[in-house]
Amino acid sequence: MTPVVDVRGLRKVYPLDGGEDVVALRGVDLTIDPGEFVAVMGPSGSGKSTFMHIVGFLDRATAGTYRFSGSDVSGLGGDQLADLRSRALGFVFQAYNLLARTTAVENVELPMIYAGVPAAERRRAAMDALDAVGLSKYAEHQPNQLSGGQQQRVAIARSIVNRPHLILADEPTGALDSASSEDVMALFQRLNRERGMTVMLVTHEADVAAHAKRLVTFRDGNIVSDAPVAPANAAVLV
Ligand code: ADP
Repeated sequence: MTPVVDVRGLRKVYPLDGGEDVVALRGVDLTIDPGEFVAVMGPSGSGKSTFMHIVGFLDRATAGTYRFSGSDVSGLGGDQLADLRSRALGFVFQAYNLLARTTAVENVELPMIYAGVPAAERRRAAMDALDAVGLSKYAEHQPNQLSGGQQQRVAIARSIVNRPHLILADEPTGALDSASSEDVMALFQRLNRERGMTVMLVTHEADVAAHAKRLVTFRDGNIVSDAPVAPANAAVLV
């Protein structure tokens, strides 16, 4: 099986004027196979965001290799990375990032507009994605007519609509109350289990991470632990 993400010896150094450089990643190795659901945890400043940005083609490593779905992306230029990002990745952020005064279904269509999908096909795929997150009835609602949890589910529909190889979620429950967090995490679990979506999620909260199948922990720019999530939690799912 070709891994979705395969990084070797990944280093990231932020040069600082007039001071010591900051080494944010110190040689990280990580492989994520199709169908995995990985949570990334670690104290503030441990390198999680830097790692997420590099995996999401939003930043480049200083050294090391990155193979994405079998292709070496270390040497790609900005335009090629942007193209790959829009075709092969889905992003979910803490702040939902939906367009205001734009309906849910139109928000979900946006990544397909960038990808040049014809209008009729866009609408059909966006409605399917809204159905997958349980929001078909809310297709014509605008973000300010939806709860935080519903807005995040629209954002998740938007992240899956292009059938990405990988969903990257950055603190996706950070702005939600506990009941909505639980809904959103149950949704990620369902998309992973039933649709085989590969998910990497960064979180501060252990009970959020407990929904994943694998937990990777960063400290001081290194991965210090990489282990399956205890199956006790998985048993609750069936
Ligand atoms: P985390 O997401 O775990 O909080 P980060 O990846 O944001 O960690 O940060 C890792 C280290 O890199 C920290 O020491 C942080 O201060 C530093 N850092 C992050 N981004 C930058 C930047 N743009 N310029 C300089 N230093 C940075």
